[in-house]
Amino acid sequence: AGISTWITRRAQRTPDAIALIDATTGATTTYAQLAADSARRAAALRARGVRRGDRVMMIGLNSTAQLATMFAVARLAAISVPVNFRLSPGEVAYLISDATPTLLLHDDMFAELAATAAEQAPRAVDLVHLDALEAPEEVFAPEDPVTADDVAMLMYTSGTTGKPKGAMLTHGNFEWNAINMLVAGEGMTPRDKTLAVAPLFHIGGLSLYVLPLLYTGGTIVVAPAFDPAAALKLLEAHKVTVHFMVPAMWDAMRKVPNFDDHDLSSLRTLLCGGAPCPLPVIDFYQGKGLTFMEGFGMTELAPAAMILEAQYVRTHAGSVGRPVFHDDVRIVDGDDRDVATGEVGELLMAGPNVFAGYWGLPEVTAHDMRGGWFHTGDLARMDADGFITLVDRKKDMIVTGGENVYPIEVEQVLLSHPDVDDAAVIGLPDPKWGEGVTAVVSLRAQASVSADDLLAYCRDRIAHFKSPRRIEFLDVLPRNATGKLLKRTLREQFGSDGS
Ligand code: ATP
Ligand code: MG
Repeated sequence: AGISTWITRRAQRTPDAIALIDATTGATTTYAQLAADSARRAAALRARGVRRGDRVMMIGLNSTAQLATMFAVARLAAISVPVNFRLSPGEVAYLISDATPTLLLHDDMFAELAATAAEQAPRAVDLVHLDALEAPEEVFAPEDPVTADDVAMLMYTSGTTGKPKGAMLTHGNFEWNAINMLVAGEGMTPRDKTLAVAPLFHIGGLSLYVLPLLYTGGTIVVAPAFDPAAALKLLEAHKVTVHFMVPAMWDAMRKVPNFDDHDLSSLRTLLCGGAPCPLPVIDFYQGKGLTFMEGFGMTELAPAAMILEAQYVRTHAGSVGRPVFHDDVRIVDGDDRDVATGEVGELLMAGPNVFAGYWGLPEVTAHDMRGGWFHTGDLARMDADGFITLVDRKKDMIVTGGENVYPIEVEQVLLSHPDVDDAAVIGLPDPKWGEGVTAVVSLRAQASVSADDLLAYCRDRIAHFKSPRRIEFLDVLPRNATGKLLKRTLREQFGSDGS
């Protein structure tokens, strides 16, 4: 059974339960309507030539149409390829050449981006508006049977460390991710409601609460785009119960001026993940009496891998928690040997949510999957109780004078300074030290702190070898659509001038 059967079975059991609510218009879609809509869309896709295994790329703001279409694609045993609308036409053209989709679906907002990208792509792709997939009559495409190993989606990684890679996620991966989410923490019931405001083209926005909640028979409020004040209002108005966002979004939301005028008592679980969460952000939400959980996920893991459940949030602050229920974890050295408790090593994961490999990259897949464990490229340590703390990405670790420095630790110190708005720490080539610790900082408006003040502030709090040797200021730090720091951009920008 595949993900589209979730909807057909819910439609049989609870046809009148509300599956989707359009946050803009307030229009509701029941499970029966969602099943019928995706069956019609499947018929329309089939009429346009989509067959089992074909890729269907889509680009658009979050919408109920997009979700219905993903289930339609699954119904045909074809593969959805959701694409980041913040990419340039050239970058989308690259994804077209990589994924070789049969169709490129788009909404109004990104019609032009889709058209320009299609023009630049080396191969032809048919452009179709998402709204043009409504078959005129009640034509229902039958469900094409799939197995757990069939690929449901090609999800591109965020491209933080290099070119985005297409992670092949199977129907089984999504099902197990849903099960892992359902049994995490307080679980989920058909009475739960989430707000889909993180982009659906990223695995976190799509698969942390949205897909698991549709599996469970709950309700999704779909918001086209993120505006912190509007999102806060929607959480209150729709009495949302479980909600995921990335750290940058949680940070923006806490800065909404009349935050305290909102009644958020319906929220049972707030989940933050995708990038390191600044401690002041965690403190803020916990200070409001809300259950703020941190989690660790990756596109390749569909995505939930670790969750710090609510009852441990205070005792294990800074940890991303323990592996989701059906996953196993190891932490190993450079030779894939387990390190001792408390030591830093590479995080390996195994479980039914581990992806089927990178699209078109068999060597990378074989390398990252060696020994039957997925090598995440992240460094972590585990305490005696099995709680895991993420240290940093292997690629971002700085080696200076023979010592390892983990940039996230230094960034957390800088972010605790009241004048600092954002901070990135990178290693730059240094003739004496191998690499020199460099901080790139953006200050809050009206802040007056100097580079020397910040250096002294760090030296007072962490070892001298970890403290930056050089501080650069920027108005805004480069981040991708998930809000992750683009350190390779910073290394290019500051690495060449040798100062
Ligand atoms: P690419 O693989 O293309 O370089 P990416 O790794 O950023 O991009 P994603 O799959 O979106 O792509 O993100 C997964 C990564 O995000 C993890 O490997 C980890 O480095 C980081 N991450 C996720 N959750 C957390 C967290 N709670 N704390 C710190 N880092 C996190
Ligand atoms: Mg990655």
